[in-house]
Amino acid sequence: MKIFTTREALQKHLLLTRAANKTIGLVPTMGALHQGHLSLIKQAKDHDDEIVCTIFVNPTQFNDPKDLEKYPRTIEADIQMLEQANCDVLFNPDEKEMYDGNEQWHLDIGQLENLLEGKFRPGHYQGVTQIVYKLFTLVKPDTAFFGQKDYQQCLVISKMVELLKIPVKLIMCPIKREPDGLAMSSRNIHLTPDNHHHALILSTTLNWVKSNFDHGKITTLKKTAESMISNEPGIELEYFEIVDGDTLLPAVEDSKKIVALVAARAGKTRLIDNVILSPKS
Ligand code: AMP
Repeated sequence: MKIFTTREALQKHLLLTRAANKTIGLVPTMGALHQGHLSLIKQAKDHDDEIVCTIFVNPTQFNDPKDLEKYPRTIEADIQMLEQANCDVLFNPDEKEMYDGNEQWHLDIGQLENLLEGKFRPGHYQGVTQIVYKLFTLVKPDTAFFGQKDYQQCLVISKMVELLKIPVKLIMCPIKREPDGLAMSSRNIHLTPDNHHHALILSTTLNWVKSNFDHGKITTLKKTAESMISNEPGIELEYFEIVDGDTLLPAVEDSKKIVALVAARAGKTRLIDNVILSPKS
């Protein structure tokens, strides 16, 4: 695997890739890699000729400086995992390489960025679109792979691509879970065994809602789900919503896609998870 830390070196390499008529698949990450990230790399490899994984803990998407400081960084182990997954290129820039001091610009993609996660983490998606826009401009991928784990992020990026007419195909990859159901996340490193045990209520509740889903029962399902999670010791619920999968507004009778999304804290660790309720997979 080739490792680049500067934009210039990466671009030089990608010129050769394009000259060889190879397609480029991009997998942006913040590192502390797990099987969820590797499943994105695998899908990218099945789809494109050359895979570029980026590892960059993007400061502008953290609204809490303490959260940024304690974000796990495991670059040596990440490199080993990417080598084993036959990733072609790792781009691992430092902050100066991606940001010019105190940048004041951001994109505004409208309402989507202010709902759900956007409400609880103000400015988060402005940071996400800022860095993903920079990565798209730099790598010019044919395809970019994102996880359904961050469902709202997929929608926000897809809106950005649509509004700015960026020529890239987006692919949303399924959520990888631990055998006990917990959605894999870099933040799971911070969970104590007790936190982990109680955090299982998130996937348990989402599965229960999926098994009992019916358009006419949305209000009751949401209420029951909220109390299932709130009654779990050590878990602090932020939101549980059943929404239209395109707008993230409350689901309506003719919503084509309906998604349940949850955010909660297990001890000090903030976790998110979701499930697509309809159409049934
Ligand atoms: P992150 O490093 O957390 O920013 O995640 C990088 C990419 O991996 C994002 O597109 C995430 O949605 C995706 N991802 C994170 N966790 C999972 C998971 N459990 N299953 C599938 N994809 C994931």
